[in-house]
Amino acid sequence: MTVFDDLVGQGPVVAQLQAAVTAARQGTGGMTHAWLFTGPPGSGRETAATAFAAALQCVEEPAGCGYCANCHQVLQGTHADLEVVRPQGLSYSVKETRALVMRAASSPSGGRWRIVLFEDADRATEAAANALLKAIEEPPPRTVWLLCAPSPDDLVMTIRSRCRLVTLRTPPADAVRDLLVQRDGVEHELASAAARAAQGDIGRARRLAADSSARQRRQEILSVPARLTAVGPAVMAAEALVKAAEAEAKALTEELNEAETAAMRQALGESAKGRMPRGTAGAMKELEDRQKSRATRLKRDALDRTLLDLASFYRDVLTLRFGASVPVVNEDRLPELQSYARKLPAEAVIRRLDAIMACRRRLAANVNPLLAVEAMMLELRTG
Ligand SMILES: [Zn+2]
Repeated sequence: MTVFDDLVGQGPVVAQLQAAVTAARQGTGGMTHAWLFTGPPGSGRETAATAFAAALQCVEEPAGCGYCANCHQVLQGTHADLEVVRPQGLSYSVKETRALVMRAASSPSGGRWRIVLFEDADRATEAAANALLKAIEEPPPRTVWLLCAPSPDDLVMTIRSRCRLVTLRTPPADAVRDLLVQRDGVEHELASAAARAAQGDIGRARRLAADSSARQRRQEILSVPARLTAVGPAVMAAEALVKAAEAEAKALTEELNEAETAAMRQALGESAKGRMPRGTAGAMKELEDRQKSRATRLKRDALDRTLLDLASFYRDVLTLRFGASVPVVNEDRLPELQSYARKLPAEAVIRRLDAIMACRRRLAANVNPLLAVEAMMLELRTG
């Protein structure tokens, strides 16, 4: 057992990272100071970067033993020489980046390396990326940057070209299923269905396996195609879909906000009667602003996931239509999928998939969600 065991279905990446750790320990070949971890959502970018950080700090054998103090502290995010950056809003500012670069330049306090793990590095604004670039171009000898982003194209060329790439693939459904069964103790059939439905997103597979209301919401989304019988129901389906995504995001947001606000109030010296000391209003306002922009992002992410679920329905129809031998994602709806595959020509299915992807692009460009989803539903009905 090492920290790399958490990487599901990522054999080549594990080999790449282990070789780099061995080289770093032997002092051969020189350490690469900037790494870029890319892969689709849920493939485990952050997990891979964290495992790598643990293995770099670990002084036991094998590297990244998972048991020593260094490994433990890295995995729990409490290691003194590891800073984890998680942009909470839609973007990461140049001011924040400059302060980060300053901190990253200091020598490690006890560990082998000073490591900065930057999640969602694609959220760095252009000015922030420039500030980051300077740090990556001339790295202090003991500093290592681990950047995470969905794909290399999400970062500016100047940064990308200075990083060593670590490319995660979508983990196969049976690897995700085995993880759910072995580690989370999920019953085999449920694990299998959740893994297939999540399409390689490990976090989503876990939620679907653990949370029956998440499974329920997913079933409602998959029942959309059958409900598009006329314009009225199509418009209603759009409204329901947007509301469901909002409800999901709201539940997540409230949970995060509550804990965060309580911790902040305490840190700023809240009195027993709940009164805040003078001069803390600014800090509370700043937190509120950060929470607001995070809420916007979570809402957008939830809606996007919903659209991907809907797309999986039509992709299954296409799979059956062409008689491809790959398994369908929504096996529990097989009879319905088969009936669509019989009555819809392939071009019509492709037009529907295009409509969903166009809707995702519109949402990414900040079009009003309800309008974008309504337009999509009407296309799904007639397209
Ligand atoms: Zn260790």
